[in-house]
Amino acid sequence: MALLEIRNLHVNVEGAEILKGLDLTIEPGKVHAIMGPNGGGKSTLAKALVGDDAYEITQGEVLFNGQDLLEMDPEERAREGVFLGFQYPVEIPGVSNTYFLKAAVNAMRKHRGEGEIDAMEFLELVRERAKRVKLDETLLQRPVNEGFSGGEKKRNEIFHMSVLEPQLGILDETDSGLDIDALRTVSEGVNAMRSEDRSFLVITHYQRLLDYIVPDVVHVLMDGRIVKTGGKELAKELESKGYEGIDEAAA
Ligand code: ADP
Ligand code: MG
Ligand code: MG
Repeated sequence: MALLEIRNLHVNVEGAEILKGLDLTIEPGKVHAIMGPNGGGKSTLAKALVGDDAYEITQGEVLFNGQDLLEMDPEERAREGVFLGFQYPVEIPGVSNTYFLKAAVNAMRKHRGEGEIDAMEFLELVRERAKRVKLDETLLQRPVNEGFSGGEKKRNEIFHMSVLEPQLGILDETDSGLDIDALRTVSEGVNAMRSEDRSFLVITHYQRLLDYIVPDVVHVLMDGRIVKTGGKELAKELESKGYEGIDEAAA
């Protein structure tokens, strides 16, 4: 069974149709990249998948592990194992990074019928994962993302993902604004999580990230639809030729 199956998804934002019949299937263990020109609807897809209520689904269906994802509220989707960086408020005043994560980890455990995580075990997990993405330990006690630099927020996003261990990790433009060292670290954090039953949807405008997170499948999203699908070489082709001509060729 596919991990994620999107069929004929139509999404309106502020009354305008942005996704216009998008189809996408992701098998367990696969990394799919979505590329495409600005304004094509990439972030809209990410937001619709996590249940942001500004994004109105007008048609289509989304199955996650065979279950109707669109029926679930955002918290349920997170507990089921769908993760999007920044699906939570960008800054959470007064709530420390570790406190927030502990609550999220325990919500996921409860959902699986498990008890709360042991305090020491949690501390070790958090330290190990922070080290993995080279997140400064002082950021663990600070309120979530408050006063974090752009790069620290991105690292924190990958840090959260590696603590929460979702089944589907959605990364929307995680590479934007990162210098090459940070890009490498963040990518290593993602690559360390790749496994047979975990999948990723990596949204990026640029090919560069995909040198580090090598995708199994690359899609081009333009004007609300997937217009082309290929292997990792498609990303290189887009880098040299651009998006012009892709939609005509696909049509
Ligand atoms: P991409 O991520 O591919 O650059 P987006 O999904 O962000 O594209 O945007 C697609 C279109 O939807 C754009 O025309 C954008 O202006 C519009 N849009 C997206 N989100 C909103 C929103 N919250 N309010 C109004 N318009 C939006
Ligand atoms: Mg349609
Ligand atoms: Mg976007």
